Amino acid sequence: MATDNRSFTVKAKRYDTSKRMSGRALQKRRLAVWAEDPCCAMCRRLTAYPSGFELDHTVPLFKGGEDTEANCQVLCNGINGCHEKKTADDLGYRHRPTIGPDGYPGE
Ligand SMILES: [Zn+2]
Repeated sequence: MATDNRSFTVKAKRYDTSKRMSGRALQKRRLAVWAEDPCCAMCRRLTAYPSGFELDHTVPLFKGGEDTEANCQVLCNGINGCHEKKTADDLGYRHRPTIGPDGYPGE
């Protein structure tokens, strides 16, 4: 019994630390990325801090993207928010926005 418990705990911990930042480090990154460009990366709508946007990985982690500030962008959230759409896109649909000369999605 004791052995079972221990292996379970170790496993859960490993998943925890390898995946995402939490707490203060994440809040700091959110502010830094938003301050850099407070507009939604997809629709260019100005978002409000702290609850009007979600931090999104430009290249999703599961596609090899890095968990760094440079790989993060602001996406508007809420019903029909771009974050919802992008997450859906990342997970299945192949629709990708065209990238304009300024490096931002064209549509
Ligand atoms: Zn948007």
